[in-house]
Amino acid sequence: MTDEDEIRLSYRDPLVERLRAEGSLASGDVEVLLPGSFGFCWGVDRALAMVDEARREYAGRPLWLISSIIHNPRVNADLRASGIRFLRGEGAEPDGWARLGPDDVVIVPAFSAPVEDLERLERLGVTVVDTTCPWVVKPHKRTVKYVREGFTSVIHGTLGHEETEATCSLIRHHGGHYVVVHTLEETEVLARFLEGVLDEAALRAGLPPSAFSPGFRPDEHLRRIGVINQTTMLARESRAVGDRLRRALERRDGGDGLDESFRDFDTICRATQDNQDAAEAVVAAAPDVYLVVGGFDSSNTKNLARVGDRAGIPSFHIEGPESLHADRVVHRERPGGAIVTTRDWLPAKRPLRVAFSAGASTPDTLLGAVVTRLFELAGAPAPASV
Ligand code: SF4
Repeated sequence: MTDEDEIRLSYRDPLVERLRAEGSLASGDVEVLLPGSFGFCWGVDRALAMVDEARREYAGRPLWLISSIIHNPRVNADLRASGIRFLRGEGAEPDGWARLGPDDVVIVPAFSAPVEDLERLERLGVTVVDTTCPWVVKPHKRTVKYVREGFTSVIHGTLGHEETEATCSLIRHHGGHYVVVHTLEETEVLARFLEGVLDEAALRAGLPPSAFSPGFRPDEHLRRIGVINQTTMLARESRAVGDRLRRALERRDGGDGLDESFRDFDTICRATQDNQDAAEAVVAAAPDVYLVVGGFDSSNTKNLARVGDRAGIPSFHIEGPESLHADRVVHRERPGGAIVTTRDWLPAKRPLRVAFSAGASTPDTLLGAVVTRLFELAGAPAPASV
């Protein structure tokens, strides 16, 4: 990574640098708290540096992204504005795939891509720049190992999320099977089937049809299971998923049988874990409000917001400064996921303490703009950035 990394470096923000160094900043009787770890993770930083490098190395050649590089609308809009075209997702070129040829360069996003896409790119003879985060490769390797050893993967993840879709495609490619569970309620349905309490009809009624791999036969394919998780899930919940399924198989097979029928491998990434731990520490300081900044479709951001719910702090997942108004906030509600408006969100009390966190795909510049906006709305000038 060099100083020529224009896109990546353009996301630095001096106010956030100061907050990162000091942990909190006050102006008048308004104080802003930031956790010890938040925002851009190593994998995102690396992916953006690779995009910058590709722009230099392949200058003059058409540059494409399979889909969003990360789950942040602004970053993707910036990439589009810089001339990078998209094959899928918002702003995608309708005939993108048909236009690809040996002169084109295609970037694989940080959360990887389905095997079918990678094979198609190979057939087309394009140049591929693979920014897949090494933390995402970890569950990939583990599922392939499960397939080879005759285990069905139980994935704690989100259907439709690019990383989980890529993992599922890899399992299919290697001839294996999977079940995706998203919540503890779905895990309970699966566990009760394993324990013989529920039948196949009840199992299928309790999970979406696409949660099962094609041709899935529960009696046959759930004899031996290996658990993994999407890298950005709530770590505490992923552990609960693994523990519940272990108990179910213990009941079914007895403790001695577990070696033969159960595997569990923690694939939460370090950055996700660090951001969640730090968010827990910052909400433990009992702020009046907790704001989490990040794309509404960002899995790790959604989970950072849930940290505030568990602590009983009024918590709002917002996308940027435009979400905040003196009398209302536009945010993603939990667990439903609708984008809603809540009135009278900003307490009038003083002193006022507001804690923040930001997802792994949230640029510092965006967080800095939100912090500045908060000070403005609370009637206190934003502190100097240096
Ligand atoms: S959140 Fe984790 S897995 Fe995702 S890009 Fe960042 S480091 Fe990699």
